[in-house]
Formats: sequence, structure tokens, C-alpha cells
Amino acid sequence: MQRLTPLFPMTDDDLLRYSRHILLPEIGIEGQEKIRAARVLVVGAGGLGSPASLYLAAAGVGCLVLADGDQVDLTNLQRQILHRHSGVGRNKVDSGHDALLDLNPHIQIMPLPQRLSGDELLAQVTAADVVLDCSDNFATRHAINRACVQARRPLVSGAGIRFDGQIAVFDSRQPQAPCYHCLFPEGEDVEEVRCATMGVFAPLTGIIGCMQAAEALKLIMNCGQTLTGRLQLLDALTMEWRSIRVPRDPACPVCGQHV
Ligand SMILES: [Zn+2]
Repeated sequence: MQRLTPLFPMTDDDLLRYSRHILLPEIGIEGQEKIRAARVLVVGAGGLGSPASLYLAAAGVGCLVLADGDQVDLTNLQRQILHRHSGVGRNKVDSGHDALLDLNPHIQIMPLPQRLSGDELLAQVTAADVVLDCSDNFATRHAINRACVQARRPLVSGAGIRFDGQIAVFDSRQPQAPCYHCLFPEGEDVEEVRCATMGVFAPLTGIIGCMQAAEALKLIMNCGQTLTGRLQLLDALTMEWRSIRVPRDPACPVCGQHV
């Protein structure tokens, strides 16, 4: 899965920029090189995609692909910290591109101003080392999951509504790991809840999005233990977490045949 490390070594500026990472024995030069060689697909440049992409860019992910078909709206700015007041009306991926490059000009940002689907989604998932689902609807979540299972790419899934957040990792490279569909079967009578109607606590998306970035970096470096097979649920009103083990469903129509 991992791309070869670029042939050119890190510059003195890079060594300074990433020095607080390199100091960590769990990361070091080797881990930072893996981050630099990685390509990450972030689907959604909203509440979750904002902190996730900002941290991935700051941490030095070599290639960030940002996909979103929406434009920046005034109602987004309460939580979508990638965007600025001056960016209202712009494509979110263009606003995001400028903000991320301003933070770290030594990485590549690929803005895709569209809702990814079909062959294009599969191609982008296949080209990525890790995929972040920062979308806001079940149809997209299931499409991303199917592509990740098919291409065998790890998926970091996050969601936040009202004061309730959740995050899980679905890593179909591991034979016993569940996929998103094992946990939330498609077609079940699940009510779609949207921020536009239900509301969302601003820092909740920040908390979950930052965790998505952390899990993505750990997957890239193969460092520590990821949330594979675990669903973390946050109630931000009490700031209490619950951790639920998620088994693989042997009858899952998406990942069942991939064992
Ligand atoms: Zn499954």
C-alpha cells in the first residue's frame, strides 16, 4: 500500500517544521517520511473535513485530495474552520486549497469540486493510502465504504450532529475487521439527520475531525493501535465516551465475500 519514499531527502526547513514529530520515538524521521510519501483522500470539506485536513496538512501529508461539491455558506462558518468569511460563495475545495497551502506550501493539495461517485470515487479511493469520510449523508458514506472494501483501503469514518459524535476505523485489509455496512446496514430505516435541521455544536466537529486526522496518521505510519473494529461515541454535553466493539458481519453483502 505504502508508496516509496521520495528520492529527495527532507530539507533543513522540513526537519525544523516537523521537528516535534521527529522527536517522538514512535514517529522519528522514518515515520515523517511515511507521512510525506502518503496520499490521503478527504471526502467533505465541512465540519469534519476542516480540522482533519488542516491537521493532515500541518503534519506534512505529501498529497491531500479534497473532494466537495458545495460552496462556502455563511451558516458553515460557525464550525467549518477551513473557510473564512471572505470565502463565502467560493467552492469549498478552492477555499480549502488556499488555506491548506498557506499553512504548508510544501505539500500537494488536489481540489475536486464535486460529489465523488461511481468510477471516479473508486479511482480516487484506489489512489489513496487512507480515506477519510467527512461527508454528511448515508448514500455517500455507503458509496465510500464500498469503494474502500473493493480497493482494500482503510477508512476513517466520522460523524457529528447536535452534541453527539462518533468515530470508527474500517480496515478491510484485515480479514476480521468489519466495514461500515456491517455496523450500519444500508436500506434499514435510518433517519437521515442533517446539521441544517438538527443543529450541531461547533467544537464537536473539531473534536471528531481531529481524531480522524490522528487515526489517519497512525494508519500511514503503522503506529500504535487504531480504532479498527471499535466505535467511539461521544456525548459532548457530559464529555463522556463510550467504546463499542463492532464485529464483522459474515453475511454482510459488502465485505462478506472478501474473506
Ligand atoms: Zn461489512
